[in-house]
Amino acid sequence: MKKFLLPENGNFYKANLHAHSTISDGRLTPAQLKEAYKSHGYSVLSITDHDRMVPHHDLTDPDFLMLTGFEMEFNEARRPWRTDPKTCHICMVALDPSIDRQPCWHRTKYVDEADRALIKFDPDEPDFEREYTPECINAAIKICRDKGFFVTYNHPVWSLERYPDYSRYEGMHAMEICNYSSVVSGWDEYNPAVYEDFLHQGKRIFVQGTDDNHNRQQPDHPKWDSFGGFIWIKAPRLDYPSIANALVKGDFYASQGPEIYALYMEDNVLHVECSPAVRIYCIARARRCQAAYGENGGLATHGAFEIRPEDGYVRISVQDEKGRRADTNAWFTDTLFGD
Ligand SMILES: [Zn+2]
Ligand SMILES: [Zn+2]
Repeated sequence: MKKFLLPENGNFYKANLHAHSTISDGRLTPAQLKEAYKSHGYSVLSITDHDRMVPHHDLTDPDFLMLTGFEMEFNEARRPWRTDPKTCHICMVALDPSIDRQPCWHRTKYVDEADRALIKFDPDEPDFEREYTPECINAAIKICRDKGFFVTYNHPVWSLERYPDYSRYEGMHAMEICNYSSVVSGWDEYNPAVYEDFLHQGKRIFVQGTDDNHNRQQPDHPKWDSFGGFIWIKAPRLDYPSIANALVKGDFYASQGPEIYALYMEDNVLHVECSPAVRIYCIARARRCQAAYGENGGLATHGAFEIRPEDGYVRISVQDEKGRRADTNAWFTDTLFGD
């Protein structure tokens, strides 16, 4: 019997859940972003302006869905022995379209007075004072989760965060395995090792590819930061509840280009069908990794990997001829072999 790790039925919808507009430090307006992404084959966009959560349901149409979101940051105090402070950035995406109040707000800080009028807050909520500590960051993650947000940990490389920092973060749904704006800026922001660190801690989180676009360059410039990191969400239809449900269930994979068409277990074998690949990795927790190649030196479009319970967890990574990757979420073998 087949066990589908990406749903058997439904459609794939291309999504970018980390973007900046003129509401914070991006160059394009929300309407311009919607048009740019829609014309490039995307179906879902979340504009996650810094500390400014503004719903954009007016831009949703039958073929394009806007998810409400914002990005929050926790900055370390500047210290003389370091050229730059560390920071922790997290993105929140509302899982219900009726959510219009920004959690973890502060009456006087983090947003200038003019922009404060853009944002709705819960007046009964106390001021949330930010500190660059795991306790404070975890408190924010918990508040946002409890209020119905999907929480993603962003760009650890750009943030200068290392294992002692991010290993103490708890409760996020996902992390960015690729942040394209950082990549085009020159940061090596493809983070499979960070994902492995979280998984080795037993944290069952998902991976996202995002643009984190600010669009400060023109589209033909090498530092144009749109359309390089995304997720493909598989859902029965394109509406807010279906897409939100697919996010929570992990019915998506991250990519910089390659596509994964199907992923399922049959008996003890994990099958992947994908766009032409130089190599298909099957990465496990245990020291038993596997790779699939095409025949006679050609490209592979199918991989079949025997999985054992002692593998701990497994995930698939597909590499194309340009070196770009598509990465699935990890599946822990207790659930793969469970009911
Ligand atoms: Zn950020
Ligand atoms: Zn950002």
